[in-house]
Amino acid sequence: MTQQEPTEGAPLAGRTVLVTGGNRGIGLAIGLGVARAGARVVLWGRDEAANAAAAAQIEAAGGQVLALRCDVSDEAQVQETFARTLAEVGTVDSVFANAGVNGRTAPFLEQTTQDWRQVLGVNLDGVIFTLRAALAHLVERGEGGSLVAVGSVASRVVVRNHSPYTVSKAAVVGLMRSLAVEYARYGVRANALLPGWVDTEMTSGASDAFRDQVVRRTPVRRFGTPDDFTRVAVFLADPTLTFHTGDSVLVDGGYLAV
Ligand code: NAP
Repeated sequence: MTQQEPTEGAPLAGRTVLVTGGNRGIGLAIGLGVARAGARVVLWGRDEAANAAAAAQIEAAGGQVLALRCDVSDEAQVQETFARTLAEVGTVDSVFANAGVNGRTAPFLEQTTQDWRQVLGVNLDGVIFTLRAALAHLVERGEGGSLVAVGSVASRVVVRNHSPYTVSKAAVVGLMRSLAVEYARYGVRANALLPGWVDTEMTSGASDAFRDQVVRRTPVRRFGTPDDFTRVAVFLADPTLTFHTGDSVLVDGGYLAV
């Protein structure tokens, strides 16, 4: 069997997958999904108690995991934490730049420069810092890899009164296309994952009226759950899918098809 052939039931055996914002919500589901597929997981988040609880959950599911504290909006911390990741686990094969914040709900004229910096600092700078560190490692190692930025339906349509969020999520799609074009020759694939509306802490403040409106528009007639992302994460990290790059994978229950 060559290295590129999937192992039955464990397509990510022997791979290490880094998930930022991996301590809850969609990021934790991605971590659990890739761990069940045989990968070792490295999760980053700021809240150490949440990191420890998420790591315990992945271990309880039979996974191998390392949880590290990192604020992805701080470039020095990202560089240090990536170096520490390599020191502890040796190599990284795949990264999900998932950490994100939605920012304050307010029309454009009321979004302050600080509001913009806060959202772009995590959702765009954080993705750039994380993927730059990881890509340098992948290029130097010369065995390819998979990079994924978590965008949103907001990468394609407007979330009203969330202009910084909408801009940040549109931007990461352009970033992943750029990486796909520039680094294909190194065997590095770069794709975006665009979730629809999903029940997590991020959406916990949504009003009943808003939820009803979303569900009525969504053909599958429900909010997503973090579990909806476990299998698609395995697909995106799968090293045998060498022709899949420069794409945006929409997982939204059909929300944008309407
Ligand atoms: P969530 O439950 O609020 O989780 C956000 C994660 O990001 C947490 O693990 C959080 O951990 C981490 N995080 C936030 N700021 C960070 C920072 N500066 N440095 C490192 N980690 C940070 O949200 P979610 O719904 O799972 O969202 C995950 C991703 O999916 C985000 O990019 C979000 O924009 C995207 N998304 C979500 C939805 C949805 O409906 N939920 C829809 C479309 C796209 P700490 O607080 O411990 O750092």
